[in-house]
Amino acid sequence: MAKKTSSPRPDKDRLIQQLQAGRLSRRGFLTLLGLSATAVGTQTLFSCSDASSDYDYIIVGAGSAGCTLAARLLTGSDARVLLIEAGGTNEREEIRDFSQSWRLTLPGSETDWGHKSVPQRELLNTPQSYSSGKVLGGSSSINGMVWVHGNKADFDGWAAAGCPGWDFNSVQPSFQAVLQAIQPSSALTSRNALAQAILETVAGLGHPRNPDYNGEQQLGVGYTQLNVLEDGRRQDAFTAFVAPHADNPRLSILMGARVKRLSVRGQKAEGVILDQDGVEKTLKAGREIIVCAGTLHTPHLLMLSGIGDPAELERHGIPVVAAIPGVGKNLHDHLISVVARKLWRPEPISHVTSMDVSIFFGEGPRPGMPKFEVQVYYMRHGWSTYPSEAVAFGLINLHPTSRGTVTLRSADFQDAPLIDPNFLGTPEDKAHQLEGYKAIRAMLAAPSLRDWVEGVEHTPGPDVSTDEQLQAALSKYSESDFHSVGTCRMGQDGLAVVDPQLRVVGLQGLRLASAAIMPTVPSGNTNAASMMVGDRAGRLILDPS
Ligand SMILES: Cc1cc2nc3c(=O)[nH]c(=O)nc-3n(C[C@H](O)[C@H](O)[C@H](O)COP(=O)(O)OP(=O)(O)OC[C@H]3O[C@@H](n4cnc5c(N)ncnc54)[C@H](O)[C@@H]3O)c2cc1C
Repeated sequence: MAKKTSSPRPDKDRLIQQLQAGRLSRRGFLTLLGLSATAVGTQTLFSCSDASSDYDYIIVGAGSAGCTLAARLLTGSDARVLLIEAGGTNEREEIRDFSQSWRLTLPGSETDWGHKSVPQRELLNTPQSYSSGKVLGGSSSINGMVWVHGNKADFDGWAAAGCPGWDFNSVQPSFQAVLQAIQPSSALTSRNALAQAILETVAGLGHPRNPDYNGEQQLGVGYTQLNVLEDGRRQDAFTAFVAPHADNPRLSILMGARVKRLSVRGQKAEGVILDQDGVEKTLKAGREIIVCAGTLHTPHLLMLSGIGDPAELERHGIPVVAAIPGVGKNLHDHLISVVARKLWRPEPISHVTSMDVSIFFGEGPRPGMPKFEVQVYYMRHGWSTYPSEAVAFGLINLHPTSRGTVTLRSADFQDAPLIDPNFLGTPEDKAHQLEGYKAIRAMLAAPSLRDWVEGVEHTPGPDVSTDEQLQAALSKYSESDFHSVGTCRMGQDGLAVVDPQLRVVGLQGLRLASAAIMPTVPSGNTNAASMMVGDRAGRLILDPS
């Protein structure tokens, strides 16, 4: 088992500088700091203590929330923290270099769980790709790096719906802590002539220019903020929050280890039972276990542990440990619907990013909230059925009312969960998606863009004009934007899975922290809010008052 060495330490600040400048790999950084690493395939333990010993806190899942939580526990206490991750290292070219990131979700990618949803009735009865990060940093290591906080009213809405302590003012310190480490910017997205032309066009259609949609006002059109450094390197959650603690002797990180069950004695969660290359191990937590396994795997792990809806557990012969009917319910996600036009010629300035402009428009359910988000894609290599050298506008209805489920395929932990987002499952969602789709079609058809894009629309195409035809096009040109949330939602009602302190109802020693706990999806992309949730969880654990 890996042990801390006693050899003299090199200068840590110098190594951090080298790591940040990209002159040193993380692996080299850890090794040079005096941490030893044992690697067997993807299983690597960077550890200063023996993995068979107990820890104060065990965090399951080193994703967006798991990493901010680990950092908060390490800086705010003297606790020993074990971070367990099913995937492997994030030290891969396609993760570090943004321009390579399209490789991360290809079929068979080692860094993507590669799930599919059940066939979606309203999307031509086809299963949808359900990517989700399986790597240090979780989905923040494979995502599009669009940086959006959401709207103040999202969090005030959570508080009003039975989650005191989650209003905007209360979560603000966590967003600030996240921002300090991530330092998102629009430096890379504002450089391109095409992006500038799109921004001018949309502003010319009456949308206010907004230089900072994460500031006071979210509505308007502006350059997309990214969690990418100016040299194109990804700021994933592991890099930003955990790597700076790599030499902390109270931190242990276990990779290539999948927790298959929680061990619960009476009503207290005591430890985790994990699988590492077919070998089962049990590790115990002195204080708490915090499951940060994301929207899809958190309910899956709870159900495999006998925590969930008794009917669902009994269907698979799993003894009921805690009857919590809300586990796996309330799945919702942002559906993105695409309009595309080919460019007359390739954009002359080299594009580092593919999502340069963001538009927030329409009136959402609370004052100041947008109804829609538009992601503008520059497509050099095409995308799915879309052409290369094209521009696409992707429409998101930010506040879907459809709700789906995550359920068990079987009691075998290796079987993927059944994911049913129930896209466009309500008449409101269909009507709103259509309304927004018409609006982005008009934006991309604006005469001021004719110098750039062809006069004839590529997707859905010039023959599509009636509402009926547009609805049919939506079924074909829509997919998950991978913002799934809500499957173990926080609240105080009968379907809440965690209370506002993120404690699993009716159990001791067990909390959840990830996008799974969000009662409703925020008005935007979900990485920043997931990181906020992890940091906030740490604060609630350390200061329960
Ligand atoms: C392809 C893609 C593109 C996206 N693009 C954007 C974007 O541009 N901007 C944005 O804001 N959001 C984006 N998102 C969404 C955003 O990244 C997620 O909402 C956010 O990262 C979720 O954080 P999380 O902590 O809930 O889960 P995750 O970050 O997914 O972390 C969960 C972790 O738990 C691990 N795990 C799961 N089960 C187990 C187990 N049993 N044992 C051990 N480990 C386990 C997983 O491997 C994973 O590392 C995207 C997501 C995807 C998948």
